[in-house]
Amino acid sequence: MTQQPAKLVFWGVRGSTPTLERDTWRYGGNTPCLELTAPDGTSFILDCGTGLRTLGNQLTAQQNGSGIESHILVTHYHWDHIQGIPFFHPFFESQNRFHFYSFQSKYLGPHSLQQVFEAQLSSPYFPIDVTMMTASREFHEISGGQTWDVNGTKITASHLNHPQGCLGYRLDTTGGSIVYATDNEPGAAECDQNLLQLAHDADVLIYDAQYSPEQLASERKGWGHSSWLEGVKIARAAKVRNLILFHHDPDSTDKHVDGFLSAARQEFPATWAASEGMSISLSERGVDVAMRESRLALRRRLRFVAIVTGHTEDGKAFEEKATVRDISLQGAYLALKARPRLQSELRVVIEASDEPSRASILSLRATVVHFEPGREKDQHGVGVVFIEDPDPGRPRD
Ligand SMILES: [Zn+2]
Ligand SMILES: [Zn+2]
Repeated sequence: MTQQPAKLVFWGVRGSTPTLERDTWRYGGNTPCLELTAPDGTSFILDCGTGLRTLGNQLTAQQNGSGIESHILVTHYHWDHIQGIPFFHPFFESQNRFHFYSFQSKYLGPHSLQQVFEAQLSSPYFPIDVTMMTASREFHEISGGQTWDVNGTKITASHLNHPQGCLGYRLDTTGGSIVYATDNEPGAAECDQNLLQLAHDADVLIYDAQYSPEQLASERKGWGHSSWLEGVKIARAAKVRNLILFHHDPDSTDKHVDGFLSAARQEFPATWAASEGMSISLSERGVDVAMRESRLALRRRLRFVAIVTGHTEDGKAFEEKATVRDISLQGAYLALKARPRLQSELRVVIEASDEPSRASILSLRATVVHFEPGREKDQHGVGVVFIEDPDPGRPRD
């Protein structure tokens, strides 16, 4: 029997503070939280940003009577990595059990993580106190360079360069290896070396890409973060197979992140930009990336023909006449012969006509968010989200 893949899900990808602005919705506004399920079913949670709340709701919904157990790795104590803790419902159920791991902060001393946990629920910051959290909790203080094993997954922690300290984690599961290295500023020799070692030959490297290379070299120097360009350099030097840009700046719109992603892909093609709901499966067959269905608007079922141009997974340009099967102002579902790459840009040109005598062209930029086998032979079902308002259309003569 082939074993289950390891599965990584992104519940929060935004750095510093949550964002609600519409132009940040596509990548998402919750602060860092990732869930890794090892092939044997062991659950890991990486960081407790605001994404932790929605993960908690999902775990509760799926729990079918048995208790929830998870190993929670916290990188550091900045707000964006802990602020989901009071809102994680599984902490309030006594049948659940959690194992926490992080480092001893020199500002807090022994039991740092436990103190941080309890302080968040202290008066006058929260309406109830920590005694209401009845789940069993074990706190493990770890340090950089330490390696330990949880049910066959080997975990390694390493110090990164960030104000007040931060740990990067590597998880070697039987399905593949993941390195979570967020909140790191390059340029400190020892930490740079730590990171190269931690990331060496990893299947997936999730890396801090908060700023543009220009910002990192000027006004944001010393803030403890990094850029897509640094991520590319590390991915190459460490022979990483897939690079995930993470910890997007709260002031970066979806278009900014699109720009970082396409610049990074020019240098390191196997790059992705972390988005809320994105999932990665790792198995002996390799790494498979999928995105959450993100079209929430009402769809209009219809069929019409459009010209679609873009790039396939292996980088070849294509242009084809395709059937649009439904459309909303948010996105569309297309039947294509070509297999475009996830998160790549397509141009969809639709011939629209409101009256027989006057045809007009609707030209839309879109990004690929979903891919599945098509309903007909030699066809792929491709979900796209439009990334700018439709061009009002120029009249055609
Ligand atoms: Zn952060
Ligand atoms: Zn931080």
